Amino acid sequence: MLEDVLRQIEQRERFVLTSHARPDGDAVGSALACCQILRSLGKHADVVLRDGVPRIYRSLPFADQVVQSNRVDGVYEAAIILECDSIHRTRLEGLEDRFLISIDHHVSGRPFAHVNWIDPHAVATAEMVFRLAREAGVKFSSEVATCLYTALMTDTGSFMFQGTNENTFALARELVLAGADPAHCARGIYFAHSEAKLRLLGEALRSLNIESHVGWFWVTQKQMELCGARDEDCEGLVNYVLSIGGVEVAAFFRELAEGRYRVSLRSKGKVNVAHIAESFGGGGHECASGCSIEGPLERAVQTVLCQLKHNSSVQ
Ligand code: 5GP
Ligand code: MN
Repeated sequence: MLEDVLRQIEQRERFVLTSHARPDGDAVGSALACCQILRSLGKHADVVLRDGVPRIYRSLPFADQVVQSNRVDGVYEAAIILECDSIHRTRLEGLEDRFLISIDHHVSGRPFAHVNWIDPHAVATAEMVFRLAREAGVKFSSEVATCLYTALMTDTGSFMFQGTNENTFALARELVLAGADPAHCARGIYFAHSEAKLRLLGEALRSLNIESHVGWFWVTQKQMELCGARDEDCEGLVNYVLSIGGVEVAAFFRELAEGRYRVSLRSKGKVNVAHIAESFGGGGHECASGCSIEGPLERAVQTVLCQLKHNSSVQ
């Protein structure tokens, strides 16, 4: 609970913050904001991310202070882990023997830490970080507001995903009042794609398949190389399939180095894709989830489609 988290923070001085590997906007924005909030409380805080900050989030305030590493070293009295259902999701070593505080809003959230604050009703982890700061009496700087607004904007699909409600807009209003500039935040994310990402989308669309309410496509390692694309260029591609009228569920398959496939699942709301991802050892939200699955491609696709058909009653 929030009170427990605040109590633990009060009792300690040195914190390391982290989130999941291949961080999204909520992971980066919430970690950066939470780090600044702790510093405002007079604490020492550092952000460590296994994959560093993806290009599109690098203009966020304090993004240049993030440490990219596969290990947490140093003297910290607690690690605050955002957006994760396990230490494993961070893909960081050196967390095992530390005092762990988890803050997460996933329905698939698990209480793996010493203190767990899991609120699936929060539309973004950023909403929880906002509540934490408000409870702690921290004044929001425009930099913190920018980080939290960007996290909120990206995790709600620009205020379009299911779960977006009046509280989301009330929060957005608070953040704008505190100095976040919506147009500036949107420009930094939605009008800042790499050319490689768009070329990769072109490649992916060549494999577009639609069967009743399910749409899917994939990219191979070879196509990624051809386009000069990085892993982070795959983020959000799945949404192009979901944008098709009549498609209720979209799946994107990305070939990994070891012959496995990363699967991104998105739903317009009628199908709970968190369940599907969980059945393959992944997780996420009802409308946005992910997992990885054994290849070859045809088998991976068939396995996921089979599960989707089994679990959805959409006609
Ligand atoms: P994406 O498709 O963008 O990789 O992930 C969508 C959502 O599912 C995100 O909220 C992300 O945190 C969650 N997710 C993706 N992959 C995994 C996974 O392997 N395990 C868990 N627990 N959640 C995942
Ligand atoms: Mn999130």
